[in-house]
Amino acid sequence: MQLTVWTYEGPPHVGAMRVVTGMEGLHYVLHAPQGDTYADLLFTMIERRDRRPPVTYTTFSARDLGGDTAELFKTAAQNAYDRFKPQTMLVGASCTGSLIQDDPGGLARALHLPIPVVAVDLPAYQRKENWGAAETFYQLVRALAGPSAPAPGTSRPERAAGVPARCNLLGPTALGFRHRDDIVEITSLLTKLGIDVNVTAPMGASPADIARLGEADFNVVLYPEIAGQAASWLQRTFGQPFTKIVPIGVSATREFVAEVAKLAGVDASATLASACTRLPWYSRSVDSTYLTGKRVFIFGDATHAVAAARIASDELGFKVVGLGTYSREFGREIRDAAKRYDVEPLITDDYLEVEAKVAELQPELVLGTQMERHIAKRLGVPCAVISAPVHVQDFPARYAPQMGFEGANVIFDTWVHPLMMGLEEHLLAMFKDDFEFKDGAVPSHLGAGHSTPVADGPVQAPPNASNIAVVWAVDAEKELYKIPFFVRGKARRNTERFANENGVATITIETLYYAKAHYAR
Ligand code: SF4
Repeated sequence: MQLTVWTYEGPPHVGAMRVVTGMEGLHYVLHAPQGDTYADLLFTMIERRDRRPPVTYTTFSARDLGGDTAELFKTAAQNAYDRFKPQTMLVGASCTGSLIQDDPGGLARALHLPIPVVAVDLPAYQRKENWGAAETFYQLVRALAGPSAPAPGTSRPERAAGVPARCNLLGPTALGFRHRDDIVEITSLLTKLGIDVNVTAPMGASPADIARLGEADFNVVLYPEIAGQAASWLQRTFGQPFTKIVPIGVSATREFVAEVAKLAGVDASATLASACTRLPWYSRSVDSTYLTGKRVFIFGDATHAVAAARIASDELGFKVVGLGTYSREFGREIRDAAKRYDVEPLITDDYLEVEAKVAELQPELVLGTQMERHIAKRLGVPCAVISAPVHVQDFPARYAPQMGFEGANVIFDTWVHPLMMGLEEHLLAMFKDDFEFKDGAVPSHLGAGHSTPVADGPVQAPPNASNIAVVWAVDAEKELYKIPFFVRGKARRNTERFANENGVATITIETLYYAKAHYAR
């Protein structure tokens, strides 16, 4: 048992719903108790879809448990087939549904429907949403593309001369963070390279499309959390190689272009030369100088967090002070990346641990999910969203990819926006007592009431913060006040830690400067 108020991911059947809802011609029959239809709202409200997800719930109630819930499932599956006439049916159970052990797969097969029935067994008490999406996609690919697999050991036939290379785009789903626009961005990049997209899946694909995945020359894995498992199977079964680089950020996109060009046997130089991205110049322009060394904490799904760390460090000149993920299955990726920035990896799905880490590290910017937005708001730290889970405003009406060259433009604007602009930051440090632009005021371009002022003191003391109450001498406190507010919290915490470690009970100006010298070493 774990006490949880917020969860980063839903149960695995929500992942299955994301796959099914992104697709066409597929219907999901879910053995689930009354009330589980709440998940429909994720799609109709957060993603603002104009129709209900193609999901039939058995919605059993307490009274049904004394009767035949298996019969209830069979009736629901038969009715769903009669009403929706899907090309393929997916069947499974939600968390509570799995406890009654009715075997949806066996029951659906017993109906002898004239379409393929794919059963997904999702261990709801061990796994979560992304795993559920990956497993569902994998089972669908295996069941639908498997029948056209060549005999084991058959090598792929050479592509005829003059025929453009074809790839599949794998991973985008319903309710994916910017998946809609990432598909557009990457498809246009591939078109520029002269590469055709065979199938984009699961988003937009029908079961018939899944059945022809094997016709492509290679696979582009946009979201490894969702498509990694299916891509490995396609590689083993059809001999299709797949991309390893996720094109988020300018350098990653350039490497991705080179990677796909190599797989397709095309020349990438013209595409790379004409790449239209403003991020490199914007971040080199003199107005961005004040961004250099800004201390940033990054948390999200592993793919977006690793990509964000690289952009933050190499393309914007920030200093990565913390890096973590809630995806335990991708802990290795985060551990490897954390080594590059010399930080301790944080792998947890407990938002309280994330909050304690942010409070301890006192970053100047947090890049995270909607949870980190709440955490950052409480601690008064600017924040931008880089990964699911996200609120409705991160399914915007405008074009807003994260991937490719336009994605890099979007990222530059999004990340810099919450920060105080350079001139204002400078003036605030010089004129702390202005009635309007006073010390600790919110950035004026964000307007009143946008966020709370930057926390100065130890608002949320992390467990390993100063453990003995130290006293600040009046003149030392005044000296501390001279430090710009956005790094003052860090200076206060460091000085208190230094005082604790050295048995200093009252912090004087000397202590402050000794601490500064100590941590600057
Ligand atoms: S079955 Fe799972 S998703 Fe549904 S209410 Fe119970 S815990 Fe929540």
